[in-house]
Amino acid sequence: MLRVAVVGSGPSGVYAAQALVQQREVPGVRVDVLDRLPAPYGLVRYGVAPDHEKIKSLTGSLRSVLEDERIRFLGNVEVGGALLPTARLSELYHAVVYCVGAARDRTLGIPGEDLAGVHSATAFVSWYSGHPDAAAFDLAGVRSAVVVGAGNVAVDVARILARGVPELEPTDLPLPALGLLSWSGLRTVTMVARRGPSQARFTTKELRELGTLAGVEARAEAAELDLDPACADPAAAAALPAAARRNLEVLRGWAAAAPAPGARRSISLRFYLRPVELLGGPRGRVRAVRCERTAPDGLGGVRGTGTYEELDAELVLRSVGYRGVPLTGLPFDAVTGTVPHAAGRVVRGGRASPGEYVAGWIKRGPTGVIGTNRPCAKETVSSLLQDAGALARRERPGDPLEALCAAGLRPVRWPGWLAIEAAEAELGRSLGRRSVKIPDWPGLRAAAGLV
Ligand code: NAP
Repeated sequence: MLRVAVVGSGPSGVYAAQALVQQREVPGVRVDVLDRLPAPYGLVRYGVAPDHEKIKSLTGSLRSVLEDERIRFLGNVEVGGALLPTARLSELYHAVVYCVGAARDRTLGIPGEDLAGVHSATAFVSWYSGHPDAAAFDLAGVRSAVVVGAGNVAVDVARILARGVPELEPTDLPLPALGLLSWSGLRTVTMVARRGPSQARFTTKELRELGTLAGVEARAEAAELDLDPACADPAAAAALPAAARRNLEVLRGWAAAAPAPGARRSISLRFYLRPVELLGGPRGRVRAVRCERTAPDGLGGVRGTGTYEELDAELVLRSVGYRGVPLTGLPFDAVTGTVPHAAGRVVRGGRASPGEYVAGWIKRGPTGVIGTNRPCAKETVSSLLQDAGALARRERPGDPLEALCAAGLRPVRWPGWLAIEAAEAELGRSLGRRSVKIPDWPGLRAAAGLV
């Protein structure tokens, strides 16, 4: 039997587990999927926006993988901490596949980032997703929000901020988030991109959705769109990828639309603005974002123009990408924020380290959609299977679960997770809503039967 630990139960971890048990080259593979949280599914549970039900429904296919009899889910198990160092994990399993994602947000590196009211989009997403480590948010007095960045996460947080109660209530938003978002006096959300519309990273489906929110006006400024060479020059426009052309069409439509006087809120997309400072107001809270106007440099980048503009904001969310976090005991490339690897094999001191593998964002960086993780995990598993002969010859103790418990860990098994799921469904029923997330550790532990 080849015992493999997969660390992380998000899409890349589940796809790696699936590839390991569904192959036919190496019989008798058994997989333990370990997660620090008592709940599985990683960013599908704690990152995909609550109003994106279709993407959330992916949990159905991830669930059927984790219910395979050759796979065990072991939640509430932190790898890399005092109870379970990575070296110990390698003693317990023939191979370990690290699928730990990219948990940290990137910063802007400009003055004022420590002001109250300035947060990462990651923190905001964790809060409205009911992540048990998320800090509480305060939206009191917030009338204007600025979201820095033009990726899909920026679109997600702008949309959740702008949505109204009737659209949020049917989701699994935890109670504190539903309460604050429902009662917020927010009027304007401004998304700020340092480059032009043809270089924005969001996808057209997500962009278009911003124009369909009830009571929300989506805006773009024709003068800013025209700064993009692709808007001024038909030949440059024709050379763009189809997705960028579609984005431009959507934005042009918004720029040309008449104002919507009855709108409750607005979402404005601003381009060629680079935040240079976050300005504080009374009580150390942010009051505005100072941006420098940029212009295309002809090479796909931008240059500063020396002219500045201030955007009012009592809330600033920076949404400028994620970064991998080093895991004690694993090599880490601080420049790329990933673990060095060769086709998924962890590379230590220039050589592939037998029995250690990576997949997902910690392998390739925080890019791509959920489905991108499937081929990524398959490549890693294919490397592992090539090494399987040598790996299986290594002596390993019996069931690793006993060693984990002996080390003082209290794994949440699949029935424990099902009990959390049932408790969330019950909470939802009692509130006349769909399933509602339990957003704290004591609640999750109690529901899983650990206390
Ligand atoms: P992203 O797509 O990499 O976008 C990051 C944005 O931040 C870019 O607009 C980038 O601008 C900007 N940026 C970076 N550094 C900056 C700085 N110092 N100042 C100003 N702007 C800066 O990252 P993401 O939005 O976090 O998304 C991560 C991945 O998750 C992506 O692959 C995304 O598609 C995926 N995702 C998908 C969905 C979905 O499918 N619905 C939802 C959420 C996330 P430049 O281009 O100028 O660098």
